[in-house]
Order: sequence, then C-alpha cells, then structure tokens
Amino acid sequence: MTSRDVVGPRDRDPGVAVLAVAVCGPQGEVVLRIQKPVEGAVGGRMTLEVMALMEGLDAALGLGIGSVTIVTDYRPLHNHMLGIWRPSGKKLADLINQVLSVRKKFEQCEISLVEPSQVSYVVKLARDSIDVQIAKSLAASARKEKRETCTICLEDTDITKIHAVEGCGHHFCFSCMKEHVKVKLLHGMLPACPQDGCTTKLTVEGSKIFLLP
Ligand SMILES: [Zn+2]
Ligand SMILES: [Zn+2]
Repeated sequence: MTSRDVVGPRDRDPGVAVLAVAVCGPQGEVVLRIQKPVEGAVGGRMTLEVMALMEGLDAALGLGIGSVTIVTDYRPLHNHMLGIWRPSGKKLADLINQVLSVRKKFEQCEISLVEPSQVSYVVKLARDSIDVQIAKSLAASARKEKRETCTICLEDTDITKIHAVEGCGHHFCFSCMKEHVKVKLLHGMLPACPQDGCTTKLTVEGSKIFLLP
C-alpha cells in the first residue's frame, strides 16, 4: 500500500480515562476513530499513550493498511518508540516491546512528533467521549442512591421495598419486616421495631401490611 495513513494517540484525565485514536487517510480524512474508556488502574500518561497507540496500530492492521505514520504530540512516546529513551520500569518496557512488535507488522511505520494543535482532532474525540463517560458514571451513582442496604439481611434493596417503622424511622427491607412481625405474633408478642435496643412498638395498623399474603 502506498497511501500514508496517520494514527494519532491521545489520553485524558486518569480519573475517567478514555483513549481516542484516529486513523486518517492520505488527505487527512478520518478513516476510523476509536474512543475507548480505560478500566481500572491507569499507569499515567505514558501507559495511556502506549495503549492508545496499540489500539490505533491494531485498527490500522485490521483495515489492511501497510504504511502508517504515527502522529503524536507526546515526546516520551516518540522517544521511546525510536529507542532514544529506555523505559525504566518493567511494565512500561513490556508495553513498549508489545507496540514495537506490532509495529514490525507494517511495511512502513514512521513516527512523527507534532505540535499539540495538530492532534486537536483526537483531543476533541477524547473529550467528547470523556463527557459521555462522566455522564454514565453519574447516572450509575444516581441509580445506586436509590438502593439501600437492609441492616438485617444486608441485601442491597430497592428503596421502594424498604419499610420505615412508624415512630422511630428505623428502616428495613419489607421481607425482613414481614418475617419479624410474623415470628413475634406467632409467639403472642406485640411486634416492636427490629432495631437492637429500639423499643418502638409497631401499631396494629402498621403491622397489617406484613400479614397480607
Ligand atoms: Zn432485609
Ligand atoms: Zn426503631
């Protein structure tokens, strides 16, 4: 293949990390873009850059591209890829060796260090994707807030199935309350709040709902 394709890796804030890579054609048109959230522990920018590069190179190989130019504004990546710098840790060394072996699969694979403004497209990709990720994690925590752990059975319970005892406000899941009320009544006792040390008696009215089948 004679076309020169461009792969640009980027990273974002490690709190919610997203890789964005764009594979561009000879005229700079975007052939493929990758936006990928990074799970778990992220080892800093260099690790992210290498991971992004790996994604980009794999994608380019998948597209049957034989000749690429890696475009990055990140000097450490550039220098490590060219062997100007030697990786200090084993983890990074392994990662770089991995990329270097993928790189060998191309007929031609150059790396060029550019100004940050020249990779603004992938920065925008990453930024858009990170907004989506942040929205997602906010939605996930909002869902979590609607659940509560019952202190008797320790089950994570939907808040609509949590019962608050009238008078003291202690709350337990409906099935634990039901069990508690049933056992007490079976022993001829007026059920009280199941909370340790709480003496709030359940009213007859308040107990009724637990006696329904
Ligand atoms: Zn429970
Ligand atoms: Zn109570």
